[in-house]
Amino acid sequence: MLDSNFSWLSTLGLLALLALAAGVGRWWLRGRGGSAIPALTPQAEETVNWHAQETETVLLRVNSSEGGLKQPEVERRLAEHGPNKLPEAKPRSPLMRFLAQFHNVLIYVLIVAGVVTALLQHWLDAGVIFGVVLINAIIGFVQEGKAEDALKAIRGMLSPHARVWRDGRLVTVEATELVPGDLVALQSGDKVPADLRLLRAKGIDIEEAALTGESVPVAKGTDPLNADTALADRRCMAYSGTLVTHGQGTGIVVATGAGTEIGRISAMVADVQQLTTPLLRQMAQFGRWLTLAILVIAAASFAFGLLVRDYSAADMFLASVGLAVAAIPEGLPAIMTITLAIGVQRMAGRNAIIRRLPAVETLGTVGVICSDKTGTLTRNEMTVGTVATQERRLSLSGTGYDPHGVFMAEDESIDAQDDPLLIEALRGVTLCNDASLEQREGGWRVHGGPMEGALMVAAVKGGLDTELITKELPRTDLIPFESSHKFMATLHHSHASESFIFVKGAPEAVLERCASERTRDGDRPLDLDAWQQRMEVMAEAGQRVLAVAVKPGEPHRGDLDFKDVEHGLTLLGLFGLMDPPREEAIAAVRVCQQAGIRVKMITGDHATTAKAIARQIGLCSTETALTGRELDAMEDVELQRRVSEVDVYARVTPEHKLRLVQRLQEAGIVVAMTGDGVNDAPALKRADVGVAMGINGTEAAKEASEMVLADDNFASIANAVEEGRTVYDNLRKAILFILPTNGGEALVVLGAILFGFQQFPLTPVQILWVNMITAVTLALALAFEPPEPGVMSRPPRDSRQPVLSPTFLWRIGYVSLILMVGTFSLFLLDHWLNGSIEQARTVAVNTLVMFEIFYLFNSRYMEAPVLNLRGLFGNRYVLLAVVLLILFQIAFTYWGPLQMLFGTAALGAGHWLLIVLVASSVLFIVEHEKRRVLQRRALESG
Ligand code: ATP
Repeated sequence: MLDSNFSWLSTLGLLALLALAAGVGRWWLRGRGGSAIPALTPQAEETVNWHAQETETVLLRVNSSEGGLKQPEVERRLAEHGPNKLPEAKPRSPLMRFLAQFHNVLIYVLIVAGVVTALLQHWLDAGVIFGVVLINAIIGFVQEGKAEDALKAIRGMLSPHARVWRDGRLVTVEATELVPGDLVALQSGDKVPADLRLLRAKGIDIEEAALTGESVPVAKGTDPLNADTALADRRCMAYSGTLVTHGQGTGIVVATGAGTEIGRISAMVADVQQLTTPLLRQMAQFGRWLTLAILVIAAASFAFGLLVRDYSAADMFLASVGLAVAAIPEGLPAIMTITLAIGVQRMAGRNAIIRRLPAVETLGTVGVICSDKTGTLTRNEMTVGTVATQERRLSLSGTGYDPHGVFMAEDESIDAQDDPLLIEALRGVTLCNDASLEQREGGWRVHGGPMEGALMVAAVKGGLDTELITKELPRTDLIPFESSHKFMATLHHSHASESFIFVKGAPEAVLERCASERTRDGDRPLDLDAWQQRMEVMAEAGQRVLAVAVKPGEPHRGDLDFKDVEHGLTLLGLFGLMDPPREEAIAAVRVCQQAGIRVKMITGDHATTAKAIARQIGLCSTETALTGRELDAMEDVELQRRVSEVDVYARVTPEHKLRLVQRLQEAGIVVAMTGDGVNDAPALKRADVGVAMGINGTEAAKEASEMVLADDNFASIANAVEEGRTVYDNLRKAILFILPTNGGEALVVLGAILFGFQQFPLTPVQILWVNMITAVTLALALAFEPPEPGVMSRPPRDSRQPVLSPTFLWRIGYVSLILMVGTFSLFLLDHWLNGSIEQARTVAVNTLVMFEIFYLFNSRYMEAPVLNLRGLFGNRYVLLAVVLLILFQIAFTYWGPLQMLFGTAALGAGHWLLIVLVASSVLFIVEHEKRRVLQRRALESG
């Protein structure tokens, strides 16, 4: 007769394992989604039709002014209105979170099964079932809390900022610090941080899909509208959560947080995404097939037992259930999900914030990284190093934003005030500038872009009072900088009704608009060649060059148009800005090259500058640079041919980036592409891994990308690739480790049926024990596996390569067989020698577990040998898991209550010696096989 335990527990064991798997798999999913949808409480504020008010009335009503609010007033309002964020869902109480762990159909079934077992007075079995349910709930509770915290921290890393006028100056603050009455500056790429009534709008278009569902951007203005105008037509309003796709503007905050339109309609659904990737989906599908196959095998063995071995139908049914319990890898999906979540956390710790999870895997297949130059490969800490006027070339000392430094002509310091041409050029870049300098306790801080900040610093070094200059010649209008036209222009009017237009930008863009140049003796026709030569000298030194020019404006015109700056400008000078490469980027480029990843620089900068920096950084081919103009003249076929060999692309626009990504992808290469501007969005979306800049990137770029760099640093991309490769490796290791365990167990049960054993080597509760205990110790330790030593010295993985390769299946197959033969042999030997089924089963369970411990070390490296210090001791989680598991097994074998629960018996030292001896065989056999595979591969590759 079959063991009596087998009857009830076969069924219950199956249920328990299914429930456990479903429970574990859900912890992480819940962790992600738990607080994703904030419950919004509408703010009890009177509804004002801000869109129907004149701008002056709005300013009066919110008690603000054109210079913005003063700091004490901001603090008072912040205390009154609260931070500008949507209220988060109230966290569930710990008790509710714990109880929620039981909210699962399979757990219900298990509980019912436990109750029925108890009613039948099978107290021990009922105890085991309730124990499993409780342990599942406790682990779920702890893991869910940790996952929620980790993901909240990652979300927090992406908190948006706003540029706002405070105490008369433009500063950058966290969007949460905005209060009603704040004056906010908007520019293309910004996400509108609160509900704003626009006071100024310069060609501003806003995409309001988040609010209205309409994805075509709406042109905005400032004129008041009828009170009953529908939300989507309120052109003088900019609503929180919408995206500025073009132009600039200023708006006054009229509502924050829950009082905003988006807050009112409670539509702010945070990025809720499934914690899954293509590999996980592939494995889920594989799991379904496997389950089906197991059911077929179970049915076949049922028929076999019934017809060939003369088991009763009831006994055989239960034996088949036991087989299914053993063979289905219940823990695998959960372990894979956990591995993925740990990988995402690890990437965030290395400044790469994953926005879309499949990118984790794609990163491991990346063959080309197309990177911006400024700020990603270089430090973006700009300093003006050279200024060239018509008369002479001057260098400038000092570093960073500290405005102390001197101008020098041929190594002699000069007084800038004695050089009227220099002073005029400095005045030009001060006026045509959106940045400001602020002295703080710790040093100087720039508000605005680093390049404009550096120009301000140069002006201060030249002795200019920048604040006074901007007051004397206030700005009336501007054409904002866009990388498509590569210049910025501003219109100014003096109090004596004089008017000037200043233009600064890329030399080509400015020079073609100039007719003359400024000299000490007045203006004279432009000597284009001389200026181009000056520019080349600066660019060859790796400096980014900027030209500045001026033109008188029409005193009575208050607006500025592209037509006004088409020609007739007078060139004042050139500025050469130094922006040294990041040391970490140089090292990371080298790492990428070793890893078979080609790095390409795609920059808006001049070709000469770009090549000089590319050389300093160590890109492969730096002699040729293709410019945007050359790309335009090239057919797709020609570009496809050149794209693989050329690494430097200069003066490109975002449209070129899109073309480059497409051509590379057509060549079968997986591409990662960086971007920061609103126009980069199409290229970022198209790239296999779009990478946005976290500090200098626009919100539009972030939303279009898969990954955001918290530090804008190229090195973080290389780190993310390393982590991506590691996560993929770890996912495969989990498969490679777990499947043979199930395979071994199943073969033991199958063997027992085939040989017609009356007493099985493993009971279902024991199988349940092994599966649960090894999943929470050994398999979990693999999820923490650090990168393998050679992870960045092998070529990228081919994305078409199947996960379950023939070598993989071969390993799974023969390891299952080793586990089965070893377990079976020791069970039979002990049963034959001692006759006690309890003791023989205890030997079998411990042999199986010990096999797994040894095989875990094999699984740490897929191909590399592990019989070395690093292989055996390199992951402390593995060691911890082994110690824990041994303690569990000691309790399982010697502790009375567990002996009763699982039907085990104490073992002697001789038993253990034999078990360790037999089980260690797997370690050596697998290592031997790995060596053979490597040798064969070495022979094949010559
Ligand atoms: P990368 O793509 O590597 O970040 P980039 O930042 O130099 O390159 P763009 O921002 O498109 O690319 O700038 C292109 C050129 O336009 C610069 O080389 C510079 O000459 C000019 N430029 C950049 N910013 C401004 C600005 N605020 N005002 C005027 N001209 C600018």
